[in-house]
Amino acid sequence: MNDDEKQELREALLGQRKNVLADVSRHGVKTGAGAGAIADETERADIIAENMVEHQLGFSESKLLEKIEYALAQLDQGTYGICDECQKEINIERLKAKPSVSLCIACQTIKEQSG
Ligand SMILES: [Zn+2]
Repeated sequence: MNDDEKQELREALLGQRKNVLADVSRHGVKTGAGAGAIADETERADIIAENMVEHQLGFSESKLLEKIEYALAQLDQGTYGICDECQKEINIERLKAKPSVSLCIACQTIKEQSG
């Protein structure tokens, strides 16, 4: 990976992070507080259902953010683009398509097959 490609991927990651953060603020993801303070039993189910949706949204978004932050840290450390499992270089085209990946195609496939 040359410096131009690194720069391109860094910008892609920063852009992705910005999008996720914009999504989070638009959906108003909560941090989990509030559900315990409900007095009315009839309202409880509705609010729990709402919280579950928000929780799932927050979870997938925070997972993605985590991956983006991880990739950015690796870029800084010069270890970006190395597969977490087999330590081989991840295909540059794969990184360009999805800059937050931390596994090569072979390891990703194994992981998906094993569940
Ligand atoms: Zn691998």
